[in-house]
Amino acid sequence: MARFIFITGGVVSSLGKGLASAALGALLQARGFSVRLRKLDPYLNVDPGTMSPFEHGEVFVTDDGAETDLDLGHYERFTGVAARKTDSVSSGRIYSNVLEKERRGDYLGKTIQVIPHVTNEIKDFIRIGEDEVDFMLCEIGGTVGDIEGLPFFEAIRQFSQEKPRGQCTLMHLTLLPFIKASGELKTKPTQHSVKELRSIGLAPDILVCRSEGPIPQKEREKLALFCNVRPEAVIAALDLKSIYEAPLAYHGEGLDQAVLDAFQISPAPRPDLTRWEDVADRIENPEGDVKVAIVGKYTQLEDAYKSIAEALTHGGMANRVKVTVEWVDAEIFDTEDPAPYLEDFDAILVPGGFGERGTEGKIKAAQFAREHKVPYLGICLGMQMAVIEAARNVAGFKTAGSEEFDHEAGKKRFEPVVYHLKEWVQGNYKVTRSASDDKGGTMRLGAYDAVLKEGSRVAEVYGTTRIEERHRHRYEVDIKYRDKLEDCGLCFSGMSPDGRLPEIVEWSDHPWFIGVQFHPELKSKPFDPHPLFKDFVRAAKETSRLV
Ligand code: GLN
Repeated sequence: MARFIFITGGVVSSLGKGLASAALGALLQARGFSVRLRKLDPYLNVDPGTMSPFEHGEVFVTDDGAETDLDLGHYERFTGVAARKTDSVSSGRIYSNVLEKERRGDYLGKTIQVIPHVTNEIKDFIRIGEDEVDFMLCEIGGTVGDIEGLPFFEAIRQFSQEKPRGQCTLMHLTLLPFIKASGELKTKPTQHSVKELRSIGLAPDILVCRSEGPIPQKEREKLALFCNVRPEAVIAALDLKSIYEAPLAYHGEGLDQAVLDAFQISPAPRPDLTRWEDVADRIENPEGDVKVAIVGKYTQLEDAYKSIAEALTHGGMANRVKVTVEWVDAEIFDTEDPAPYLEDFDAILVPGGFGERGTEGKIKAAQFAREHKVPYLGICLGMQMAVIEAARNVAGFKTAGSEEFDHEAGKKRFEPVVYHLKEWVQGNYKVTRSASDDKGGTMRLGAYDAVLKEGSRVAEVYGTTRIEERHRHRYEVDIKYRDKLEDCGLCFSGMSPDGRLPEIVEWSDHPWFIGVQFHPELKSKPFDPHPLFKDFVRAAKETSRLV
């Protein structure tokens, strides 16, 4: 039976609650425990799949095809535990389940209410798979006091009461602002936020306090006294150079020990931190650096391409180089020549995206990379744009384009080299879609197998000819164009097992030009970098040596 750690936040958002949860998961693993991390989000969208990356950051996709919050990406990167559909839930999903049950007649005769029906639904969600792991870490999105979050806070209060004593703890993250004029760290916002928690029947066992500097003993004692926690359970979360230093930093602050103390686990198993020491060493001591341009649309918000940025960091760690990423707005190339913008980079990456805006610029970036022999990694839309570029500029299909853009514009302007997929095979099942389907959850989502061509670059990079990667897209490259494109040198080196769907393309006569229909970035970890990112950065390193 799992022990439960609930993680809440107060004072302000963006304190790094997801990161603290992920780092704690990693530390518990280092002490030999098995863990699973979950995110409970109070917003009303059923899932983040329909939210704008500008607003919410990247959508993280699980193997089993759920579109989830980007915090699940942190969880996976720190623990290596593959997230599942059942590790992420929102108010929208909870209410939609409750309403579905109400219509079905499951509660016949009853008045449906937040307590107990909504809170029961949340508790059932928290319980899923509780026998599988030693620790279940459940992070509640938002901050205490948000109206939307109340049912979740109430559910964890009930849950902790229903479990035997000592099986649940609460870790609360807050901010200790530093007031320059008086040179003081202020504890009052934290006191207020804990008071808010207590007013809804919750009391933290551990306080994680984000602060610019170490917490002096006097403030620690004050927090302990006013917030009713032990002084050792007041943990400082200081700013770090890299997020991957978080496990070691939190260990140094005594977080994992405080958690084990809260559960009265004694003696505490000794941690093995070698994995994180190696990671920290690679980050702190790079032997060179490379510059990668990400030519995309959502460049104002770095979180929109979170996993890609992280996967590049991992690739850098594997090659002992620091990867500096610069975001280039693809729309610039609608009117301007890409050369002056791209020629100083060691590699170019065109990420995934939706809609036509910026795509002509991405096509130009792919053309620049092909012609100037700069390493290119195209991910999802980035692969589709590379194929369109090849079709237009090499194979002579002058009007090559994607059906996605014609759908949007409501007219037919392009030869559909990339078309809307309406039917495909998933395992033993056939999936069908129509153009008028709902927008949420209707893409080709989750893990699919691909077969790689013997002797291709990707087969060499992966070291195998059978892979499984995560997908999130509606459109596919049409194999109708395969022969013509292969005659021009664009090799279709990865295909779906039934041979219908192109999964990978690569230019045979280019030092490193690969487009993939899936999202390799979602599976990369600092201690286990994804082979494509590892080799992409290696190729970038070669380029940087040439110049
Ligand atoms: N918009 C494209 C599609 O739906 C690509 C999606 C993506 O890049 N994730 O196929």
